[in-house]
Amino acid sequence: MITGTYDVVVVGGGVIGAFIARELTKFKLSVCVLEAKADVGMGASGANSGIVHGGFDPEPGTQKARFNVEGCQMMRKVTSDLDVPFEMIGSMVVAHNMEEKEILKKLLKQGKENGVKSLQLLDSWELGGLEPSLGPNLKGALLSSESGVVCPYELTQAAMENAIHNGAELFLSSPVTSIERQEDLTYVVHAGEHHLQARAVVNAAGIYSDKVYEMGMEAAVGDEIIEAHQESFHIVPRSGEYMLLDKSEGMTVCHVVFRIPSEMSKGIIVTPTVDGNLLLGPSLNPRADREDTSTTIPGMEQVKEGARRLVPEINLPAVIKAYTGLRATTDRANHDFIVGRTPIKGFYNAAGIESPGLTSSPAIGQYLAEIIAADLEAKLNPDFDPKRKHLRFRDLSFEEQQELVEKDPSYGRIICRCETITEGEVRDAIRRPCGARSVDGVKRRTRTGMGRCQGGFCSSHVVDILAEELGIDPTEVVQSTPGSYILTEQTKMKGEE
Ligand SMILES: Cc1cc2nc3c(=O)[nH]c(=O)nc-3n(C[C@H](O)[C@H](O)[C@H](O)COP(=O)(O)OP(=O)(O)OC[C@H]3O[C@@H](n4cnc5c(N)ncnc54)[C@H](O)[C@@H]3O)c2cc1C
Repeated sequence: MITGTYDVVVVGGGVIGAFIARELTKFKLSVCVLEAKADVGMGASGANSGIVHGGFDPEPGTQKARFNVEGCQMMRKVTSDLDVPFEMIGSMVVAHNMEEKEILKKLLKQGKENGVKSLQLLDSWELGGLEPSLGPNLKGALLSSESGVVCPYELTQAAMENAIHNGAELFLSSPVTSIERQEDLTYVVHAGEHHLQARAVVNAAGIYSDKVYEMGMEAAVGDEIIEAHQESFHIVPRSGEYMLLDKSEGMTVCHVVFRIPSEMSKGIIVTPTVDGNLLLGPSLNPRADREDTSTTIPGMEQVKEGARRLVPEINLPAVIKAYTGLRATTDRANHDFIVGRTPIKGFYNAAGIESPGLTSSPAIGQYLAEIIAADLEAKLNPDFDPKRKHLRFRDLSFEEQQELVEKDPSYGRIICRCETITEGEVRDAIRRPCGARSVDGVKRRTRTGMGRCQGGFCSSHVVDILAEELGIDPTEVVQSTPGSYILTEQTKMKGEE
């Protein structure tokens, strides 16, 4: 039984799926996103370095190079429309010896070939003046002034909220398990209780994008079958572990600082985050289990060693959090993105999107939406509204704060002291389109629990507000995933001694 009919079903609610959905709503198309997890942005889009890369690193002529450069150029406008903080702090790749200094010249040439502007080679004395905390023996750096930092999960949420505001629908906790083709060649996408008919399907399933492509292959007919198999690929997950340091360390460096990249990765970086912390990582190791985001001792050692090599005096005891993201690396020779039409008519891939996928997301979304709209002969949507607003109490002037508190006293109650987050903001995070449904969901939307105390003060208040807003008992509130309950039972009634 069909439970819904759409022009396009997008599989995956990471940053790529969110931007594809948003860009599709610029056309007169009905769009639905199916996400396996209980919230958007819980895959790689929620655990990465948050760097907007300039685009000098990818090999010229690849999809990575194209979408990186275009995405970076789009980022300022997109983040301004979506009210997401983006700091264009610039990035630098540093050379530890003369051999590495030669590699900087190659990266500069490659960047120019890719169309990156604002690249500049720095001598060691120029570098020392800009970044005095870096090691004394560095030989120079490549500065990319248009690079920056963004909050990856806020970008994902914002793009999805805006897609929903423009008419897209989102079903969470809905893993797609199979895809069928009907006689008229339309698709039926099965995801739990949802059986959605669609003219087009987009695979934006991140680390599972090979599995979803296999589902697409099952739906292939006639000549499509052989060609679809020829284009199949596998994802080989690779972990990247991080250490996040307290805001007291946020000024250790002013730029995103990289070492010379290897063929497999851009290496360990030291960077301020857009929220003012200091981030170290990621490590690089194979990981067999696609759900395993644990941190490991060897991974942490790699991060420490790499960070010390860049900043010898780095204050490692200031770490407040460690986490792991999983890269969706394909088994294709150059690990390029797989974006575009497939041999299966109406089935599109945005697969194997490893770094710089966050940077590339607006460009990938735009590219795919345009080809899908052309294939489905869809006209532009004149009512598309690109804007999304997000109120941050701590960023308002004193007068604006006073005015807000007078209108709504819940903005006068601080819930998270470390990050200065008010009750009003927590309630707003739950009420927004694609709103929070868990303590971590509130955390990712407001930053409650992201400070030095890591939720010690605010978590219980967030549980109460979630219970009230969702009309459930506090014992039913979860930390993150379904079943991750925080409270087991009520031990006393309000007012009891
Ligand atoms: C360690 C690390 C560091 C990185 N650093 C950077 C960086 O600094 N800058 C940058 O530009 N990029 C960076 N990236 C890359 C960037 O994070 C990714 O390219 C981007 O997040 C990929 O987004 P996605 O939507 O394709 O994948 P995801 O965010 O993983 O989203 C895919 C979604 O699909 C869902 N899904 C899977 N299977 C199904 C199914 N069957 N049904 C329904 N839903 C399904 C998943 O639950 C998930 O939510 C980094 C990545 C990693 C891992």
